[in-house]
Amino acid sequence: MNKPLTAGLVAAGMMMGTTALAQDTFISIGTGGVTGVYYPAGGAICRLVNRDRAEHGIRCGVESTGGSVFNVNAIRSGELEFGVAQSDIQYHSFNGSQQFEGDGAFEGLRAIFSLHPEPFTVVARADSGITTFEDLRGKRVNIGNPGSGQRATMDVVLEAMGWTVDDFAQTSELPPAEQSLAMCDNNVDAIVYTVGHPSGAIQEATTACDTVLVNVDNDEIRALVEERGYYRMATIPGGMYRGTSEDITTFGVGATFVSSDAVSDEIAYQVTRAIFENLDQFTALHPALANLDPSEMVSDGLSAPLHSGAERYFREAGLIE
Ligand code: GLU
Repeated sequence: MNKPLTAGLVAAGMMMGTTALAQDTFISIGTGGVTGVYYPAGGAICRLVNRDRAEHGIRCGVESTGGSVFNVNAIRSGELEFGVAQSDIQYHSFNGSQQFEGDGAFEGLRAIFSLHPEPFTVVARADSGITTFEDLRGKRVNIGNPGSGQRATMDVVLEAMGWTVDDFAQTSELPPAEQSLAMCDNNVDAIVYTVGHPSGAIQEATTACDTVLVNVDNDEIRALVEERGYYRMATIPGGMYRGTSEDITTFGVGATFVSSDAVSDEIAYQVTRAIFENLDQFTALHPALANLDPSEMVSDGLSAPLHSGAERYFREAGLIE
């Protein structure tokens, strides 16, 4: 929620005619690991919001977090106002399904807009002999930190494959910023990361030692994509990363920007406006954001209702009817 200064200070500010400053409202955006795309994307959002602070009095800050699941939970508890979350996590949180069954539906979850595609990305040591997802059986795999989107997606994939963690020789739960090094130190054979491309994390994993990207494409995955609307097949272009010259086929989700109905209409409006009025600058701030299309951003992968403030901006801008 907004963290206004004390009433006394606000009143003093008003008396001095500095209403905007005295009423500065702080908002925090939950992102992910610093080598992912959420963190720089959140930074780009805050940069554009803060640029207009004199007009709206919003002070935006970005936090590195455990990822999607952590972010929606922190928005629900009021600890964060905004966050980035995978489209499957947005869906499950709003509906109280999958890992959110215990907590129940988060009915106050609100979609702001969608961001970049996030293929489920598996990288393996070149000397491990792993080239497909099925080859992970019997290997040492980093299955993702609890709270991350990749961990949640990995759990779904394991279930779809009829596997459990016992199908691996060993599992670890390192966060994204630590997993590349663990693989290059030969402590794990493969890592998973649901992330936009290109990303610093996958660049690190493919340059710090000899590794390959792995295809995640089999009957079980195709059935999963068929059955669940928030998944789609995805391609990671060959040549994007060292060691992988062929296109990689996998499945993926979309990254989305979310908030809650406890965040005011005005704040959601101003944040949305800051991005859409400066979209060229926003998309230039990270290569994974380069292909964003405003007409897709207002609907793709959004299963929670639009925040009323975002909706107001989209209507004014003619992006929705
Ligand atoms: N998709 C990941 C997650 O939900 C984060 C990816 C990133 O940080 O770019 O946790």
